[in-house]
This record gives sequence, structure tokens and C-alpha cells, in this order.
Amino acid sequence: TDTDTADEAVRATCDDATICKRFATSKGYWKDPYIQYFVRSVGERKAPEINRGYYARVQGVNFLLDAFLKKTQCNCQVINLGAGLDTTFWRLKDNNLMPQKFFEVDFPTIVSRKIHYIKTKPPLSKPIIETHSTDSLLLDAHNLDSDRYCIIGADLRNISDMEEKLKKFQLNTELPTLVLTECVLVYMTPSQSSGLIRWVAETFHTAMFINYEQKERFLRSGWEHASALDMITVYSMLPQVDVGRIERLEFLDEGELLQQLLQHYSISWATKDKLRLGKVLCFF
Ligand code: SAM
Repeated sequence: TDTDTADEAVRATCDDATICKRFATSKGYWKDPYIQYFVRSVGERKAPEINRGYYARVQGVNFLLDAFLKKTQCNCQVINLGAGLDTTFWRLKDNNLMPQKFFEVDFPTIVSRKIHYIKTKPPLSKPIIETHSTDSLLLDAHNLDSDRYCIIGADLRNISDMEEKLKKFQLNTELPTLVLTECVLVYMTPSQSSGLIRWVAETFHTAMFINYEQKERFLRSGWEHASALDMITVYSMLPQVDVGRIERLEFLDEGELLQQLLQHYSISWATKDKLRLGKVLCFF
């Protein structure tokens, strides 16, 4: 059907994101020793503007995520919705910034692929096994559930099914919770994405929502505070020593194209703070 074809095109976007990140890391924009296990070859060259755009996206999202983990002293949960082949779990493990539990949700076919890579690549599976205390590790073709990392196959447009699965795998609605959607809500209708944002607001009393998207998409439903920065601003706020370093990696003819690209995107975030974690989420 048309819906199946459309969903298949959406699923394919997870490869696009990973291929671009793989290329940028191969050029030295940032380090990700795990992404090679999800996309084997570096692939064809990407324009410097694209690489710089991904650099700003990844650093910007990581900055907010790490600030939340530090503020909660990792006594929290992270839920990455539409995670695709994202490698954040392994980065956090290596940086001693692992939350109590890290959840990911994506379509079942994407989840099965990701689990296959994890099962067949020891550098991916070892950290999961190491952080698991009992002999009850669930790692079959469609599910992964360990003490600290859980991957769920579900459709984000079917919230009750997703919620049921998250709860089955010990989602704790009492813990401060960070929800991340990185280029995901844009693939849903406004009513589906606002339903998801509202579900997060209604389910957790202390939470942060980080969304990376095209500028006009963010919706405020049931949140106490919300802010957004376009990526031109984010780029200008990144550590200038590092920005200087990456700008020397590849020659850029003139910055106009990069400016145009960055101005179409933004990072937005929203918070609710019953536990009064305080200023953590008012960064800017
Ligand atoms: N967040 C990852 C990143 O930034 O690298 C992947 C981004 S990719 C552009 C979008 C992801 O959202 C894909 O993995 C896709 O399968 C997932 N996605 C989109 N709509 C979804 C839905 N309704 N249910 C589950 N996953 C969905």
C-alpha cells in the first residue's frame, strides 16, 4: 500500500543519517569508534557544508544530553525515539555517563537490523554484557533488554503500544527522564508528533525533551518551559577552539551555503521540573 511505501522511505532515512555521520567522523569532525560497525564503508564524499552541519547537530545534542546526565548524576533515564543506528549508548558508557537505563525505540525492522549488528560485533555487545548483572539478558532477533540498555521495536504513532512495551521493560515514570527525537518528528503529522510530546509531558513529572528538526516544527504541549535555537546560533556557541579545528579540516569556498543550511534547522528543548533540579535546563 501507499502507507507501506511511505514508511519504508522513512525507515531508509536512518541509513542516510548514519552514512553522513560515518563520513564526517572519518574526516575527523568528531570521534565515534562505534559507527563503523553499523556502516562498514566510508562511502562517497559529502560536501564540507554537510559535514559541518552534522558536526553542529551532534555536538549540540550531546551538549544538552550530557548536561542533563551530569545534573541528575545519571540517576535518570534516557529514551531515544526514532534512534535508528545511533551510537550514543556506547559513547555514554565510555564517558562514565550512563543513565540508569537507556531506551531506544524504532520500527521493528530497523531494531532487528541493529540487534543483528550488536550480536555479531563484540565491541558492541561487550559493553552491554559488562553492564548487566544477572543471567537474564534478553537478546534475540527482535528484542534487546539488559539492565542498562533496551531496544524496542514499535511505531511511535501508536503511543499506547509503545508505552506498554516500555513499561514491560521497566520504564520508571518516577525517574527524571530525557527524551530525544533527532530528525524524527518531521516524519509524522503535526497531530501525531504533538500527541507524542504531550504523552511525555503527562507521563513524567521531571523531564527534558530535546528535538533536532527543521525550524518550524516544534510544538509545545503540556511543558513548563520551551526554548529553541537555530543552528547558526548553536554553531556560534560551540567551543571556538574545536570549531577552529574542524574548519581547518576541509576548505569551504564561501560560507553562504553553510549559513543557508544551518538556518533551516534548530535544536529545541522543553522541560518540566517537579523535582526542582533547577537551572540545568535553562542553559542559554
Ligand atoms: N535519530 C537517528 C539519528 O539522528 O541518527 C535517526 C534519524 S532518521 C532521519 C529517522 C528515524 O526515525 C529512522 O530510524 C526511522 O525509522 C525512525 N522513525 C520515523 N518515524 C517512526 C515511527 N513512526 N515509528 C518508529 N520509528 C520511526
